Amino acid sequence: MSQKRNDHFRIARERMVESQIAARGIHDPRLLEAMKKVPRHLFVDEALWDQAYGDSPLPIGHGQTISQPYIVARMTQELGLQGHEKVLEIGTGSGYQTAILAELAARVYSVERITALLPRAKKVLDELGYHNILIKLDDGTWGWKEHAPYDAIIVTAGTPSIPNPLIKQLNDPGIMVVPVGDEYSQTLTKIVKHDGKIDTIYMEGVRFVKLIGDHGWRA
Ligand code: SAH
Repeated sequence: MSQKRNDHFRIARERMVESQIAARGIHDPRLLEAMKKVPRHLFVDEALWDQAYGDSPLPIGHGQTISQPYIVARMTQELGLQGHEKVLEIGTGSGYQTAILAELAARVYSVERITALLPRAKKVLDELGYHNILIKLDDGTWGWKEHAPYDAIIVTAGTPSIPNPLIKQLNDPGIMVVPVGDEYSQTLTKIVKHDGKIDTIYMEGVRFVKLIGDHGWRA
């Protein structure tokens, strides 16, 4: 791609971070840097590149979406990542959120249930040079037991209730962020496990595609 086009996207990305993310109260410098660095346009079809730094989700095929940049930042901020963590993501989708997590944590495990979405996400993440990501095709409502426990868990699809395997696979201490609600609207919910206890914090309303699986919505 031409240098000019790259510069154009870099500037669009900086503007996105300032006007949509920092302006809405997200101040973690490492997170803002990551959002400025990861080229969101590469995670969508080329026909959508010019919309990639807009303030909205975008279709990625198969009825799924890449989340709105602000929501990615908001959820990631709540995980409070310092750099040493092992993170589990449910719903790889485009792989964009996965890349942001890989910038901020030591290792990222990500699970996606739609076969057709994986090759593209994997290819982009490979080309961008991430070596701390492992992705598998599965029903992520079961978590990923082999690598548990996780210091942070992020669920990027809406669920009627929090899948129990995920609560079990969360480290103590650990933080999970998950949209919980009906199929039309959910509440961003933060679960904090510490000293054998679990605190639940309710945040803003959001709208995600469905988490489909044994411990989510039935297919
Ligand atoms: N983080 C992604 C969000 C994609 S949308 C991005 O920004 O691109 C949510 C994703 O969750 C979809 O790809 C959907 O297929 C996936 N999903 C839904 N139910 C799932 C399940 N049980 N296990 C794994 N992935 C699931």
